[in-house]
Amino acid sequence: MPGLVRTHPLGSRGLLLDLHGSLAPCTLSCVFCPVSLRSHRHPVPSRPRLVQEVLDEVAALLDAHAPGEVELVSDDVLAFPGLLDLVTLLRGRGVAVRVTTPGFRLADGRLARHLAGAGVRVHLTLWSRDPATAAAITGVPDALERLAAGLAAAQAAGVEVELGTVLTARNAHELADLAAWAGELGATTFTVRVFHPDIAAPTPAYVDQYPDYAEVVRGLARAVAAEGAPHLQVVNLPWCRVPLSLASAPGLRVLSAPNEERFHPWAACEACAVRAHCSGTHPVYAARHGEAPPDPAAAAAAWEAQCDRLR
Ligand code: SF4
Repeated sequence: MPGLVRTHPLGSRGLLLDLHGSLAPCTLSCVFCPVSLRSHRHPVPSRPRLVQEVLDEVAALLDAHAPGEVELVSDDVLAFPGLLDLVTLLRGRGVAVRVTTPGFRLADGRLARHLAGAGVRVHLTLWSRDPATAAAITGVPDALERLAAGLAAAQAAGVEVELGTVLTARNAHELADLAAWAGELGATTFTVRVFHPDIAAPTPAYVDQYPDYAEVVRGLARAVAAEGAPHLQVVNLPWCRVPLSLASAPGLRVLSAPNEERFHPWAACEACAVRAHCSGTHPVYAARHGEAPPDPAAAAAAWEAQCDRLR
């Protein structure tokens, strides 16, 4: 049965494979998770051959796309009962595999050792250095403790761990501290994903998670100026909100993001030369922060050069 796995392009030769949440459920309830969207996910009935059906579907996707790299995402990929078979299939086809997960299930060590042996990279999220904030973001009282346990087990097993964060209104002020923490943990790159609503009509509580871009930019400036900081990759930050002096800083890369029409409500965006690559500014940003429309002219030349590199 096709449709158990959603796909998205990932760079030039990669493929993102999204297992349905019902295949790999999560025990967290993160404030940035579009829970209200879950009702559109097709419920997956419990069937004895379900894992095999997923494997068959992934095999067909590999035949069709021949990706060099796959990123596995879901509510929690590590909860998928066929994970080890899926990894074996992907690695057997010579595909590099990265798993994005909350990481709690790594803590017992056995799964971490298996992933290390298979050469799977794991991406973990540093929500906050403050246990109460991490708990508030994830809905899990001991989230920070459990993340630390999973991270320690992964590193002890030799898993290649990538670190990042999702910035919301609750933790945007911690950006520089989170980057420094990632550096302390040995990361050479830290991925900063700015919360960006991906639903058309977000609830007020969801809108409240939208961080202030000015605060994000201040945090980036502090982070790149810090000695020994990891390189920063920033996703979903509207390009014209980033001062040119910061955009050209060594150690900072503001990444291209999919352009979705509903994220470009401003007349300014209509005329913007980089709109095909910029994440845009979602309407709820103005609702939350009341900022002026973006100014494409402020950054046009530099960002067009960035686009040239992306083409
Ligand atoms: S004006 Fe251009 S750079 Fe600014 S948010 Fe819109 S598309 Fe992005």
